[in-house]
This record gives sequence, C-alpha cells and structure tokens, in this order.
Amino acid sequence: MSPFSMDHQRRQVLITLMILAALGCVVFAMVNVERGAIHLSILQILFVFYTLALLPVVWRSRDVRKWALIYLLPLFSLIIVALATPQVHTTVFVWLLLIPVTALFLLGRRLGLGVSLAFLSVALILVFNRFVFQGPSEDWLASLNLLICGAVVLVVSYVYERGREQTEEELRRLAATDPLTGIPNRVGLAQAFTNLARDARHDGSALSILMLDLDYFKQVNDRFGHEAGDDVLIRLAGVIRRQLRTADFFCRLGGEEFLVVLPHADADSAAQVAEQLRQLVANTAVAVGEQQTTLTVSIGVAELGRDGKDLGELLRVADRRLYTSKAHGRNRVTSADDSRQTFTPA
Ligand code: GH3
Ligand code: MG
Ligand code: MG
Repeated sequence: MSPFSMDHQRRQVLITLMILAALGCVVFAMVNVERGAIHLSILQILFVFYTLALLPVVWRSRDVRKWALIYLLPLFSLIIVALATPQVHTTVFVWLLLIPVTALFLLGRRLGLGVSLAFLSVALILVFNRFVFQGPSEDWLASLNLLICGAVVLVVSYVYERGREQTEEELRRLAATDPLTGIPNRVGLAQAFTNLARDARHDGSALSILMLDLDYFKQVNDRFGHEAGDDVLIRLAGVIRRQLRTADFFCRLGGEEFLVVLPHADADSAAQVAEQLRQLVANTAVAVGEQQTTLTVSIGVAELGRDGKDLGELLRVADRRLYTSKAHGRNRVTSADDSRQTFTPA
C-alpha cells in the first residue's frame, strides 16, 4: 500500500490512538478503583485487552475504515459510561472532544458525522443532567463551554475532512489522467479494465482491446517541432474519442500509443471498429500551424478469454499484433496470429 494513500494515514492515526487510549485506560482504571468506580475500572481493563487483540488485525488489515469503526464504537461507549459515572471527576467531559476529530478522520465524512452526532447527542443529555439539573447553578457555564467547543470541533473537523476528501478525489483523478490529451492514462486503464472485465465475466459477454500506435510519428516532430507534435496528439485523441461509443474506454498508453477497451465486442467486431478507426485517422487532415498533415495508425487486437485472461496478457498479445501490422507495412489492423490482416489502403 502506498505510504501516501488514505488507508495508510488512517492506519497510522488509528494505531497511535489505540496505543495512547490503552495507556490512558490503564491509568484511569487504577484511579477509578481508588474512587470506587469498580465497574468502570473493569470495563477499562477489558478495553485494554480488546485493543491489544485488535492491534495486529489493524496492522495487517486492508479495510482500515471497517476496523476503525469496530474499535471506535466501544471506545466512544466507554467515554459515555465514564460520563454517566458519578464518582468520575467532571473534567472527564473533555474526552468528548476526541469523538468528532477521530470519527471524522478515521471513518470519513458521512459515517464520521453520523457516529459523532449519535454519541454527542447521548453525551449532551448527560452533560445537561450533570451540570444543569443536578449541579450548582453556575455550572451551566461549564456545559455551555463544552457544548460550543464540541460544536466548533465537530464543524471544523467536518469541513476539514470534506476538503481533504475533495483533494484526495482530485489527486486520484489527476493520477489517472494523461496531462497532454486529458484522456485516461495507464493508471486509469488498470482501474477501468478491472471493472469492465468483471462485468464481461459476470454477464458472459465478450471484451476486446485495440492497441494503436501512430505511424512514423517521429517525422511529425522532426518536420513541425515537438509542440506541433503535441497538438497533433491532442487532435487525434479527440477524433478517435468522438468516434467511439460512450461505453468504450479510450486511453493514452504513453508517447503516440493509445488503447481502446471495447465491451461487448469479440475479436471480429473489434477488428471492424479498429478498421473504422484506421480509416478515420488516415482520412483526417490535422492542421499544424498554416499547414496540414495526415497520419496513419497501426493497430493490434486482442480478445479477453481467447487471447489472455488478464490485462497484462492481452496487452502482450495486442502489442505483438501491433508489431505485425508495423512489419507488414503499417496503416493496418491485425486481429489474429495467422496472416489474417484486415484491409490495408491503396
Ligand atoms: P513507427 O511507425 O515505427 O511507430 O514510428 P514512430 O516514429 O511513430 O515510432 P518511434 O517509436 O520511433 O517514435 C515515436 C516518437 O513519438 C518518438 C517521440 O519523438 C514521439 N513522442 C513520444 N511522446 C511524445 C509526446 O508526448 N509528444 C510529442 N510531440 N512526441 C512524442
Ligand atoms: Mg509510432
Ligand atoms: Mg510507439
């Protein structure tokens, strides 16, 4: 797991919280024995054992959020039990402030908010009961302080978490997007292929890929310059994108190589789509400054199941067929390993 991923950060925060809260529980368990709050003391010791049992699971788990919930619910409940115990000093109420921060960060915005509101509502009743209805009259100020401070911490944590989630989403999108053409890159391909292949297996439909490589693209750079070459890549990516169905996935593998994933297409129908794309590129005049140029593209086709069981295998087969297209003179489509090459132009 990447050290920059959200799960990695959550795991670090969760483990730190678990260790510190367990140490706190040991200290308070001793204090509570002294004060006669035996039931709370026992609960705290049990919670320490619970934490020790969970630590290795959290350390290894892939689903940190789930384990955070499994840990936080008893922790927050323990805080509530402590609030409701008369022998416990009133300052125990400061622990309430821990709830919104840890819940929002470890559980995410929606679940974190829900869990925080649920526990803080119960706590609110206890706060009023202890400070306003039973305590000396000036204690209402203490509950007002706690109420306002708790609300501030909750709102600030929520706003922070919302911003962080938006930033994370944007970073994920950028990581999966090719900056030049704005279409997905290899990262986006891996994600999309996983979903499309799962759907294809689920409903028993075909799925094929097309690997495209522009022919003699280096000459475009040599003739017009690298920046003009960039413009040509952007223009052609747009032309190909518009030709495809919305369900098709189109990405840039790198350089002047592109890849199309065609759901519901076996190798034969994929070869027809490839042939349409080949003709489209060959018939598209691309403006380069004052001048115009046309390019051609070579394509290799591979079908899931027939040619490979995963993306890696399909890419290898499509790449091999792409190079067959190149070797046979470029500007053509190869969809099988025998000499069946789809039409090439005059
Ligand atoms: P072939 O028909 O064998 O594919 O010839 P080619 O010239 O297209 O292939 P080659 O792999 O020899 O060169 C690819 C060229 O694509 C090299 C590089 O200058 C150019 N290229 C790769 N990425 C970019 C890019 O992002 N922008 C521009 N302008 N050119 C790029
Ligand atoms: Mg090329
Ligand atoms: Mg190339």
